[in-house]
Amino acid sequence: AARTRRAASTGPGRTADGHPVALLANIGSAKDLTGDVEGVGLFRTELLYLGRTAPPPRAEQVAAYRSVFAALPGRRVVVRTLDAGADKPLPFLRLAGEPNPALGIRGLRAARQAPDVLSTQLSAIAEAAEGTSADVWVMAPMVATPAEAADFAASCRSAGLRTAGVMIEVPAAALRAGAVLRGVDFLSVGTNDLSQYTFAADRTCGDLAELLDPWQPALISLIAACATAGAGAGKPVGVCGESAADPHFALVLAGLGIASLSMAPRSIPAVRQSLAAHTLDECRRMAEAALAADTAKAARAAARRA
Ligand code: PEP
Ligand code: MG
Repeated sequence: AARTRRAASTGPGRTADGHPVALLANIGSAKDLTGDVEGVGLFRTELLYLGRTAPPPRAEQVAAYRSVFAALPGRRVVVRTLDAGADKPLPFLRLAGEPNPALGIRGLRAARQAPDVLSTQLSAIAEAAEGTSADVWVMAPMVATPAEAADFAASCRSAGLRTAGVMIEVPAAALRAGAVLRGVDFLSVGTNDLSQYTFAADRTCGDLAELLDPWQPALISLIAACATAGAGAGKPVGVCGESAADPHFALVLAGLGIASLSMAPRSIPAVRQSLAAHTLDECRRMAEAALAADTAKAARAAARRA
């Protein structure tokens, strides 16, 4: 028991019976790295680009990426390529004036309008990764189809980046997760946007909180489809939306077969404790109970009973 308690306050994420679930950090820069993290599951690079009239110079990007890689020797760092558009417009992408920005040219879609912005970013990430021992993975936001995923992976490989994945934030991509995985090495489910697009509910609208609740069974079904596809392909599937930070929901995610949970660093200790107090079998029973429920409230209650 003493060993379990020690393991629960620091160190890698594990269930009570030792099944690993990596606990990773969501960061916007090296400054956000605090506490005991196994790595970074979401490095939001758009902070580098915001408030500028031109993309950040390549050398500046290399320095920013290198400062994160250098802080995590031997650990995984998942870099997300620029997620601009919608609520984060950038003058050099000339996207202004879309009637429905959340459904417009955002995320990876912007790379089609400005391919040099993506290729410069990928080559800056590759250069920053040289000479560090960090395990650098790269992923694209707002991918909708297997073809987009495969194109992105090809761009990563031609920049010299070995491990390429995509975020699952669009229901179409979750429904075809197996086909998406044929072209990439991993998936990371962004539950913030996946909720928004699944329920047609603006993620910033407080009045729609009930629809945006991660315990909504439809959202859990889509996450389950991704986890099942990952198991079939033998490729890792993680979750990097806010839902991963809920210590109770994290058990459901582990039970679905999610391999890593990425969250704000301050949320990691509570999730680590929660995992350490439950076996993988208990997590699986909670996941089954939540999937069988008809409402978010019933899913929460059923998981708690299980
Ligand atoms: C998400 O959509 O769940 C996500 C992690 O990305 P962001 O919150 O940056 O859109
Ligand atoms: Mg998102």
